[in-house]
Amino acid sequence: MNDAAAENITAAALSGTDTEREPMQVITAETAGFCFGVERAVSLVWDLLKSGRQPLYTYGPIIHNETVVGELEEAGVRILNSLDELEQAEPGTVVIRSHGVTRAEQERMEQLGHSVADATCPFVKKIHRLVQESEERGEQVIIVGDPAHPEVQGIRGWCRDEPLIIADETDIITNTAEKRYFAVSQTTFNLQKFEKIVAKLKKSGYDISVVNTICNATQRRQSEAEAIAAKVDAMIVIGGSQSSNTRKLCEICRANCAKTYYIQSANDLGNLGFTPVRSVGITAGASTPKKIIEEVQSYVRSKL
Ligand code: SF4
Repeated sequence: MNDAAAENITAAALSGTDTEREPMQVITAETAGFCFGVERAVSLVWDLLKSGRQPLYTYGPIIHNETVVGELEEAGVRILNSLDELEQAEPGTVVIRSHGVTRAEQERMEQLGHSVADATCPFVKKIHRLVQESEERGEQVIIVGDPAHPEVQGIRGWCRDEPLIIADETDIITNTAEKRYFAVSQTTFNLQKFEKIVAKLKKSGYDISVVNTICNATQRRQSEAEAIAAKVDAMIVIGGSQSSNTRKLCEICRANCAKTYYIQSANDLGNLGFTPVRSVGITAGASTPKKIIEEVQSYVRSKL
């Protein structure tokens, strides 16, 4: 457990008066904050900046965190939000973020004379390889994930044929086709939901092989958040409003702790009317910098 992971704060010690009150507890998840893939991508952009590489672009915001993205923009990084913007940009270095991109997008970057700095997380790269190998075996690819998520769009873009994309059990229709299917998952998908979808696919007539590609960092973060949420009076989940892994984390926490706050920064806690309770859990999505987690810890401590 890290040094900030668990601390007992005695109300009496804070107030200096009431020695009868119960100790209060703040538990911060060890897995809160940047995962390996995000850390790697953000460090790559800073390294390129320091080496004087210009023009320097990221294809989409490098992570779902406005503070980090704003700091990079101030330092000279430009975000290209679409293929159109890529087409019009002066040749430079384009960083592919940890979610990855489609094969067509990567090829277009190279055709346009950009130097490509690929920060696709190796766990996502592995999925690109798995779906290609599956198609070589003649199987139909199924991606379990959010069809609008850039990672899922990227995986889809490495398939030769159109994959089935399933976000929910209710998307599954009974299969009558005589073919083999191969399923992978978005790396940040909810494990329980993935297992239910796979079970329903099997029941619905799909001859399917499955590789659970939910990344360990996500699984550990979700399991730890679930365990903490089940034992505290209030749970705080920190992350960008666009961050899919944070939203899933929040779903898991809400299922285990009715008083769950989904916030972007410590300021939101005040706006949401956070009130002191006996025990508070804190977790954060993969794009949340340590600095923001520490600010939330300080805010909570100041309220206990
Ligand atoms: S959540 Fe996992 S797969 Fe996604 S970027 Fe982080 S380490 Fe890579």
